[in-house]
Amino acid sequence: MPHCNKQMISFFLTTRCNLRCVYCYNSKERAKVQEKSLPLEIAKAGIDEYFANNKSRHIRFYGPGEPTMEFELMKHIVGYAKEKAGDAVTTELQTNGAFSPKVREWILNNLNIVWISFDGTPDIQNTQRPMGDHLADSSPIIEENVIWLNEHRGARNLMIGARVTMTDLNVNRQIEMVDYFNSLGIKYIWTDPIFPEVRQRPVCDDSGRAEMFHIDLDAYVKNFIEATRYAKTKGVFYGSFLTCNFDGEAKTNCRACTPVPHLTTDGYVSACDMALDGEDAYHMNCFIYGKWDAENKKFVYDTDKIKALQNRNVDTMEHCRHCIAKLHCGGHCLGEIQNETGRLDGQKPDTCKAIRTLYKELGACETYDYMHP
Ligand code: SF4
Ligand code: SF4
Repeated sequence: MPHCNKQMISFFLTTRCNLRCVYCYNSKERAKVQEKSLPLEIAKAGIDEYFANNKSRHIRFYGPGEPTMEFELMKHIVGYAKEKAGDAVTTELQTNGAFSPKVREWILNNLNIVWISFDGTPDIQNTQRPMGDHLADSSPIIEENVIWLNEHRGARNLMIGARVTMTDLNVNRQIEMVDYFNSLGIKYIWTDPIFPEVRQRPVCDDSGRAEMFHIDLDAYVKNFIEATRYAKTKGVFYGSFLTCNFDGEAKTNCRACTPVPHLTTDGYVSACDMALDGEDAYHMNCFIYGKWDAENKKFVYDTDKIKALQNRNVDTMEHCRHCIAKLHCGGHCLGEIQNETGRLDGQKPDTCKAIRTLYKELGACETYDYMHP
């Protein structure tokens, strides 16, 4: 099922975070603003409206900080969604995995899909994703949480997966990574080549920034193909952000083209995980398609922005029209492209080359059990 079929309401719970990842894609912007969390009133109104107008009952918690830092808020939102739609509600969390035993016990009994941002063996994880507190190692607490959750899962509908940022550090160690995650009981792994963080200007207008987030994409593709085949023999799913639409046909990349709501901490409605702040969205403003009207207690929408997002597909972009992978790509991630080229219909030629190589080598595949986060 292509990635654009992943329909849900997302809550950007808080800007607070307990890790200090070296590549954090919005760390500088976040440091400048006061810490903020999503008001419960807006989250509830979002659920009411989303459930009234959509079939999906999937709710998801995401950054810009670490969602479990707002544990009580997350509990309230899940409770409210279940009050409204009962057992039809399914839940998903993207987390750094560095949470307390109290939080993990709740996760065990209340969530269905948990993606842990986890970059591989301890040497890599601790270099790329240290704790905020004196840059201590994060791998011990994450390993403990993953093993505990997998050991206690029983018959619950709960999956603990890894979402891996690929850099030059782990690009040549993908098979080793599969073995490491497998040893912790992780059976679903999605890898994402690193991309430049969101700042106040697109990367094309900010010389030198692209080099800060380098990955050898040829090495990534070569090792990814080997690791995917290897993982299969071990009963492990190993996917790539670049293959997230290989299991179906779609003319659009993802839910950003629907769009579906991602409620920001400052009361806006965003279409994309990379547009986290409504008030200061800069060049990512094209994704901010709605706003909470506090006085009238309702969301108001910008129909021109919605139309622009809906119009972005492989038929409307010249470079995609004749691409062999077009129906299994959908024009790639709008967020990355907008951030790097300053245009919704821009292109990342190296990424296109990588997607086409992957498509030629791996081809279309059966439906993924768990779609990319
Ligand atoms: S980051 Fe990319 S894949 Fe994710 S919602 Fe935004 S456009 Fe879609
Ligand atoms: S690989 Fe590139 S050219 Fe082909 S559909 Fe994707 S974004 Fe378009």
